[in-house]
Amino acid sequence: PLTSIIQTLNIDETERKEIEIAHREQHILADSFLYFYQNQKYTLLEFILSKLSAISMMLSIKMSYAISQEIIEKLQHDALTGLLLRHSLNDQYELIKTEAQLRGEGFGILMLDIDFFKKINDTYGHQAGDEVLKTLGKLIIQQCRSHDRAFRYGGEEFILFVTQLTEETLTKIAERIRQKAAQLKIEWNDTVIPITLSIGCHWVAPDEMQTPLKQLIEKADKNLYQAKENGRNRVVCT
Ligand code: GH3
Ligand code: MG
Ligand code: MG
Repeated sequence: PLTSIIQTLNIDETERKEIEIAHREQHILADSFLYFYQNQKYTLLEFILSKLSAISMMLSIKMSYAISQEIIEKLQHDALTGLLLRHSLNDQYELIKTEAQLRGEGFGILMLDIDFFKKINDTYGHQAGDEVLKTLGKLIIQQCRSHDRAFRYGGEEFILFVTQLTEETLTKIAERIRQKAAQLKIEWNDTVIPITLSIGCHWVAPDEMQTPLKQLIEKADKNLYQAKENGRNRVVCT
């Protein structure tokens, strides 16, 4: 009866295989238990019973662990874009800082905002706007490396922590994301919705890592504002 639950669990393949094997073993042991019981082989029965309870206990621990992992994943991620939610910004900042300090490096904060997004909603409808957010979420995930972090910060605003790079590369990465977004072909009802991004960056040097995240975000936000002021579809870095 657990098979369908196991199949829908959003866990990695190795974990799923282990759970499936334990579940199969549980079935085999239950069948043997029934056979020995019907044939009155009581000594073997006791042995099978202890194996059965051990495997059932193990299976239940593995299942509850997998389910709690899945819940944690869901609580951390935005359902529409698949990106991290803003409530985990501070925790992730602490992790990023520790990693960067160990490496003796700085890291970058990018703040992205879709240009005239309200107009996209007004022109194509709210669902089309959602499709834009979904597609952009995928692009952002694609552009991030495993040690970077990407958040949906607000409706159509995103924050990226970009790590293991130099200050010069940060501008290049921001520029690449801006260009890729402008090249997206977001299809909607026989038309293609064009989008552009404005991006504000801030380079967090090692000696700035005592600064509260809020202040660092404000610096990236100022640059984003400048990018909007300067005509949108551009990157401003400091
Ligand atoms: P600017 O270039 O200055 O950033 O202009 P803008 O229109 O992008 O900015 P504004 O803040 O005026 O509008 C943002 C819009 O985003 C308003 C809001 O309705 C829309 N929005 C926020 N969250 C969602 C969402 O989840 N789905 C959709 N479809 N729209 C959303
Ligand atoms: Mg906007
Ligand atoms: Mg905005």
